[in-house]
Amino acid sequence: MGDRGKVPQYLKSSEELAGMRKAGHLLQKIMLEVMDNVQVGVTTLELDKLAYSRIKEAGARPGFLNLYGFPNTLCISPNEQVVHGIPTGTPIMDGDIVSVDCGLVLDGWFADMAYTRGAGEITPEAKRLLAVTQKSLFAGIAAIEVEGRLSEVGGAIEDTVHAAGYHVVDEYGGHGIGKNLHEDPHVHNRRKDPGGHHRIKAGLTIAIEPMVNIGTARTETLEDKWTVVTLDGSLSAHFEHTVGVCGDGLVEILTQDPALDEPRYY
Ligand code: MG
Ligand code: MG
Repeated sequence: MGDRGKVPQYLKSSEELAGMRKAGHLLQKIMLEVMDNVQVGVTTLELDKLAYSRIKEAGARPGFLNLYGFPNTLCISPNEQVVHGIPTGTPIMDGDIVSVDCGLVLDGWFADMAYTRGAGEITPEAKRLLAVTQKSLFAGIAAIEVEGRLSEVGGAIEDTVHAAGYHVVDEYGGHGIGKNLHEDPHVHNRRKDPGGHHRIKAGLTIAIEPMVNIGTARTETLEDKWTVVTLDGSLSAHFEHTVGVCGDGLVEILTQDPALDEPRYY
């Protein structure tokens, strides 16, 4: 009876985690190059082409392209766009903040991550939003504990965002990841359990991805049926890592190569 209503966790062996680590490190390397190119005058379609080329050159394939019908390699969501923005030929402008989300598949394993950064001079408020969002991601990661509750991941995100006076999007969230981009369990960005009071197990691999808005948690989807925007037009940021719980209980950020510094875009 204790398992009633539980959603599954697809636990990975250490060999499987090694495959996901390889995918994650490749994705981070490509993402760092893409983020370096988030500059005034560059179009988001140019960023998309760069990511596509790098993924193909590495013998991987884009994880989002054609998934559920998504038309591109990257989701690029500037300013009031929250997630799932479609790359366009419009150049990035001075003061824009640009969220870039990328997934890839290497040897059958998915990795998924997102960064947000500013182009040119961004406002102090925008800088604070980026800092708070990235901080909330790491608070969520730090809350992972074997036999701990998965709801504490979202709880740590929520607490960090609310302490800053911002709003965390609840309609979208993180997810299990592995042979598929989206696996159970869902990882809420609030202190909510995906079902059955989930206890975190060794071998769990999840993408954690807070989306944080300045003015309201409420969002709407544009007519293109993809682009999610804040309901009040206020700025939104998005950071994401793919994380694995190793057999020894250690939590590893699979999309963070330990040889590289975690970038801060504020
Ligand atoms: Mg993503
Ligand atoms: Mg994701």
